[in-house]
Amino acid sequence: MANTTDPTPATAERTFGWCHWHEGPSETALMVQIIEQGSGPGAGLYACAPCREQRRLTPLT
Ligand SMILES: [Zn+2]
Repeated sequence: MANTTDPTPATAERTFGWCHWHEGPSETALMVQIIEQGSGPGAGLYACAPCREQRRLTPLT
């Protein structure tokens, strides 16, 4: 008897983010700026919703 339990791991993509503006974890953090680095992938700067509102930051899409 095969169990039909879905073996799919929890793919709840919790966008756990880090707000670089208040320097703390935030679940509402979105990338608002990308720092271009000479080589390799650029690093992104994330800001949470309150910080984006305060600083009038626009999230990148
Ligand atoms: Zn913040």
